[in-house]
Amino acid sequence: MDRTKLGAAAVSTFLLLLPACGVSVVSPADDGPMPDEASTGQKVNCGPQMSRFPVNAEHNIGYDAASCGGSCATSCPDQNANSDYGGVHHGVDVFAFYRAPIVAVAAGTITRAGVPSSTSGLRVTLADGCGWWYYYGHLDEAVVSEGQHVEAGQLIGFMGSSGAPSVHLHFNVSADGDYYNDIDPFGLLNATSATACGGGVGSDGCTDGQRQACGTYGSACVDNQCNGGTSSGPGCTQGELAACGTYGSNCVDHQCNGGTSPGTGCTWREAHDCGAYGSNCVDHQCNGGTSPGTGCTWRETHDCAAYGSNCVDHQCNGGTSPGTGCTWRETHDCATYGSNCVDHRCNGGTSPGTGCTWRETHDCAAYGSNCVDHQCNGGTAPGSGCTWRETYDCKAKGAGCVDHACSGGTAPGTGCTFRQTLDCSKAGKACAMGACT
Ligand SMILES: [Zn+2]
Repeated sequence: MDRTKLGAAAVSTFLLLLPACGVSVVSPADDGPMPDEASTGQKVNCGPQMSRFPVNAEHNIGYDAASCGGSCATSCPDQNANSDYGGVHHGVDVFAFYRAPIVAVAAGTITRAGVPSSTSGLRVTLADGCGWWYYYGHLDEAVVSEGQHVEAGQLIGFMGSSGAPSVHLHFNVSADGDYYNDIDPFGLLNATSATACGGGVGSDGCTDGQRQACGTYGSACVDNQCNGGTSSGPGCTQGELAACGTYGSNCVDHQCNGGTSPGTGCTWREAHDCGAYGSNCVDHQCNGGTSPGTGCTWRETHDCAAYGSNCVDHQCNGGTSPGTGCTWRETHDCATYGSNCVDHRCNGGTSPGTGCTWRETHDCAAYGSNCVDHQCNGGTAPGSGCTWRETYDCKAKGAGCVDHACSGGTAPGTGCTFRQTLDCSKAGKACAMGACT
């Protein structure tokens, strides 16, 4: 809807700066008298829902050279052009090739289809959900029928010259189905087609009209967006303002900050950013799809990029955090303990009230145990008669733990197994070369 406003602004600016294109007034010869299209009594309750240009092909608004004997140039938007709105011309003429596809400009219902007069030719009308009617005249063929529901962009017929001396579409927008209670549709046409007035897209991806409109904001135009300079007040560019506007949000400091995207639990900005990844946003997270070739979600890829790292298999694995001997992921994980990472270990500080380092606390937690005085002291490893710490320590020696002793391997410097050392100890003896002494 902001797009419409922007289009209207661009149009009015254009008309102000380029009041005429060097053509004279020519009375339309192809559209009168008008067909009898009486009011339905239906009142509009919101703005025109038109979101699509009525011709889905290369097109132009302005003079059709062939229809005026080649004596008139194709015009830019110009109140004086014979295709333009005003006077006895209730609508705007759009030119394209014979049988160019004509499409619904909005979702709605086909309200009329047929030939009401010799000068109207074959015409179709479409009503949107707000009470606005869109009239398509001079069709060569209609492929819809009265009462049919159509979606925006759906094919409704083909351009022709029925009831007219040249191939073109006569397009009228009226407020209540009354053909003569119409509005100038130029703003709607221009807003739904950047090239509707014949302006080609330049190397900057913008038409002359767009450049002109952006210029009025002191901004340059790139890729159909005003992106130069900053709008006074909110700290956003015109392009950002326009983008936020499409979400029904305001822009502050380069961020869309208004409201929450319905049904998502995400802000508009989050929804927008997730969309940039081709993902949906749910509860403040981009959760859709997977970043191709990485085995990571889009969110993971995004988060890893924030560390200057790549994501592989749900892990940030790229590069090493400078000066730490740790990966970015390790550094990140240690930070979640309030600790630094050195040589692949969280070594900073001590976990409060435990007498353990953060790493010890972390490792004990991995056993489902608490850490006290550098020991995991919670619970006993099932079936072993050993504490979790004993089990862990024996495992580090390549041994299992039974009854609080490592039962495998050999106790260093004794020639005895851990078990033998334990058994000798119970008898008050030491163990040497496999025997109690
Ligand atoms: Zn016309």
